[in-house]
Amino acid sequence: MISFQGHGILLDIEGTTSSVSFVYDVMFPFARTHAADYVREHWGEESLMSGLEFLAKDAGFNDFQSWCGDRPTEQQQETVIAETLRQMESDAKATGLKQLQGLIWKLGFDSGELKSHLFDEVPSALKSWYQAGVELRIYSSGSIGAQKLFFGNTIAGNLLELFSGHYDTTIGGKKEAASYRAILQDLGDDPGQWLFISDIPAELDAAREAGFQVALSQRPGNADVTDPSRYPCLTSFDQIEVPDQTHGETRRSPA
Ligand SMILES: [Mg+2]
Repeated sequence: MISFQGHGILLDIEGTTSSVSFVYDVMFPFARTHAADYVREHWGEESLMSGLEFLAKDAGFNDFQSWCGDRPTEQQQETVIAETLRQMESDAKATGLKQLQGLIWKLGFDSGELKSHLFDEVPSALKSWYQAGVELRIYSSGSIGAQKLFFGNTIAGNLLELFSGHYDTTIGGKKEAASYRAILQDLGDDPGQWLFISDIPAELDAAREAGFQVALSQRPGNADVTDPSRYPCLTSFDQIEVPDQTHGETRRSPA
């Protein structure tokens, strides 16, 4: 049991609130399954066509026009679909592919077909921390836009309003102490008032160097940690005890 007395908790997503495998077992296959239909149905839309400029570069061309711009639309679409699937197959981390995947995921979340995974006790724990007056924020390598999509569409509904802030790698890498100092500066708070939870020791070391309290998240599917005894460890958010800091005032209850 960890008794937390501070102002706020900063959370990692993958391996902490949610399973690492969700991205690989659900999100990537979803994008693969819907890629062809997405390209055909959204052809000509600005968000798709701007992504195809990057996809063309990743396919080795200067731009979309020189790649397949002179061919009939149907052939262009088939060329794009084949290249998209090829890059997905090789697990490319290319800009164009990421943009296309993002568009397909957004559609999936918006339609309710895709719902983000959370470990069982996470929604109730987040709500009870929130109600006790603890501020909650996210720090993830996924973009802030993707984080909001993720927590706005979880298996337990829309949890976005529990969070008062989001950080991604635009503030710096998760293994650098400077990033956590920048977050504290943004918070305008003393380092000791914040707890950072993650499954990655190098991230905890960086946060600790910046003055954060830290805890190691140990969840099914996480990578083994060589020396977990260097950190307080959690297998469930229920292991964090938070005293009521609202001093009798009732905090607005989340939906
Ligand atoms: Mg993680």
